[in-house]
Amino acid sequence: MAIAIHPSVDNGIAPGRDDFAGGTLSCKCAQSPVKVKLSAQTLHNHACGCTKCWKPPGALFAVIAVVPRDKVEVVENGDKLAIVDDKATIQRHACKDCGVHLFGRIENKDHAFYGLDFVHTELSKEAGWSPPGFAAFVSSIIESGADPANMGAVRSRLRELGLEPYDCLSPTLMDAMSTHAAKRSGVLKG
Ligand SMILES: [Zn+2]
Ligand SMILES: [Zn+2]
Repeated sequence: MAIAIHPSVDNGIAPGRDDFAGGTLSCKCAQSPVKVKLSAQTLHNHACGCTKCWKPPGALFAVIAVVPRDKVEVVENGDKLAIVDDKATIQRHACKDCGVHLFGRIENKDHAFYGLDFVHTELSKEAGWSPPGFAAFVSSIIESGADPANMGAVRSRLRELGLEPYDCLSPTLMDAMSTHAAKRSGVLKG
């Protein structure tokens, strides 16, 4: 039996749609769900093995993307949202009743990813979101209880799904963070 990575990728990854312009995320509450409207396509969607991202029950990984924060709007039951950890770099706004994370926001203006919110598009009924393209923080699943002896099989399964496994972020995103740091320090001009 194949290793269950995440329900949205285990049976193959649905392609995104070029003309897709957003949709509405909804938490898992049967009554009065929190709804958050995203009025743009997402970027950099990926599987994430860190211990902080919200994962559905039984999943080894979260699937998470970014979207400009000015395209994120709480439209229903926002009073149920609370920040999981206000000391964390990414402040995850979660439903107090069902625990689902609706969006994660960086408030530090100096951060390389300031201006982008982190979202789980599996919470939307619309189809056409950008599909996950890699897996980040793969080794970190061990911190959530995954068997270290199984990591070879997990990485093989990720590659089979087309999600190249990395133990930090992807090279593209690591380069973006280092470029930001080098410009801030003056090492890199322009
Ligand atoms: Zn909820
Ligand atoms: Zn994560």
